[in-house]
Amino acid sequence: MSWEANVKRAVPYVPGEQPKGSGVIKLNTNENPYPPAPGVDRLFKEFSYQSLRLYPDTGSARITEALAAYYHLDASQVFVGVGSDDVLSMAFLTFFHSGRPILFPDITYSFYDVWADLYGIPYKVCPLDEDFRIVPGQYMQKNGGIIFPNPNAPTGVYETLELIEDILKANPDVVVIVDEAYIDFGGESCIGLISKYDNLLVVQTFSKSRSMAGMRIGFAMGSQKLIRYLNEVKFSVNSYTMNMPSQIIGVEAVRDDSYFKETNAKIMATRERVKGQLKELGFTFPDSKANFIFARHASIPGKKIFEELKARNILVRHWGKDRINQYLRITVGTDEQMDAVVNALREITANA
Ligand code: PMP
Repeated sequence: MSWEANVKRAVPYVPGEQPKGSGVIKLNTNENPYPPAPGVDRLFKEFSYQSLRLYPDTGSARITEALAAYYHLDASQVFVGVGSDDVLSMAFLTFFHSGRPILFPDITYSFYDVWADLYGIPYKVCPLDEDFRIVPGQYMQKNGGIIFPNPNAPTGVYETLELIEDILKANPDVVVIVDEAYIDFGGESCIGLISKYDNLLVVQTFSKSRSMAGMRIGFAMGSQKLIRYLNEVKFSVNSYTMNMPSQIIGVEAVRDDSYFKETNAKIMATRERVKGQLKELGFTFPDSKANFIFARHASIPGKKIFEELKARNILVRHWGKDRINQYLRITVGTDEQMDAVVNALREITANA
């Protein structure tokens, strides 16, 4: 028998393309077009490479405490990791262990089924309605756990805290994970529900609203019990998940609240302006509360628009998946970038 018969095979998640070289308007992975908070730059310069000789703090105390203070939680209610992908993967491993299928929407972050398959977790997808909204009743069947993003990705659709609470009320026996990667662009976080539901885990990231995708910082918030269980698994995989510069420099991105609010407000204003322009060009989209717009054209196929944009050095995201074949996910960049996109789309739609 070949050794290959004993290999754990996996079908990996496919991230958006990271083009080499400059000149590309990159709107395909929901990165923030603005730089991180100015204090991040200062701390970077002050950071001594000599300290890298040592292992980082296993508990990532500085950044954990900064986040706890910001979100009015105890440090024992916060868990940090290498981007929210790391945190979510750890949460799948820790909390979805019942053997019963976990539930998530049919159109959602395409890493969920990858982790489920990797860890041997059965799952069942719950179809969103025709407006890409969650149907809460679908989450009231027997299950082994629940996860969904709010706002959802790639649709941008935001669901209310009432809907989330209805799902929590119906599911006291499983862990419910709300992936709030895009919550800072106009939605209301469900962090406030943590004190009421000890089975609610809220996951956020520095990659989008805090402009630090390259640093890889993600975090989860929940009851002390949930965080303790997460830490047990984390310390059984890798004691030092988070590197020292991230732990130190990330603190500054939390501290500078006015910069955070200012850049988020800019992105939201740009998003609302672009929504109007897209409508004029014949696009429709679910109303987005994220830093992207999930749009389709009335007559031109999604793949064609994707390719035409790419030919003009503008990169957006397109999936060949059934229900969303005609859609493009366009990250909201700066006003100048979005003007370039709208001009290109004007040309493409005029020539079609
Ligand atoms: N959740 C959702 C819904 C996302 O779109 C992303 C970004 N791909 C992530 C989590 C992971 O982001 P990160 O690992 O950069 O924190």
